[in-house]
Amino acid sequence: MPEHRMTTVGEILSFMLAGNATLTLKSVATGKHYTYKVKRAKPWSSDGANPPLRWWVNILSGPDNTADYSPLGMLKQAHQGVLSFGKTSRSCLADTAPPMAGFAWFIRAVVNEDAEKLAQVEFWHEGRCGKCNRKLTDPTSIRLGIGPVCRGDS
Ligand SMILES: [Zn+2]
Repeated sequence: MPEHRMTTVGEILSFMLAGNATLTLKSVATGKHYTYKVKRAKPWSSDGANPPLRWWVNILSGPDNTADYSPLGMLKQAHQGVLSFGKTSRSCLADTAPPMAGFAWFIRAVVNEDAEKLAQVEFWHEGRCGKCNRKLTDPTSIRLGIGPVCRGDS
């Protein structure tokens, strides 16, 4: 039913790696959710002719879901290689912090096409408020298509 929830690895990868994706991962068991921004990085000048693909991964860390993002880590894919996620020197969280460990876990599940693990997490793509066109990031807003301000929750 929810148009903004994605369930297949193909859909998830093409959305997540599209270049400027905002996505929310939600634990089915606990309802806990985190919002990430996955933005394509420009090739390094030292990369040479066949650069790996890289994406900066930021985590929503404040109340403004258009601006309050902090560096989390980097997704990387060498030419025809496997996608991997790791910390960078700018990472704002430790490896064991739930948003960091959760994203790493999710990427491994996607790479391995692990259906059992993928069933434990909901993936929501970026939606926009049907009323004011601002980005929606929490699962309820995305399901309803209206942000908390526009539906009068805040
Ligand atoms: Zn709105």
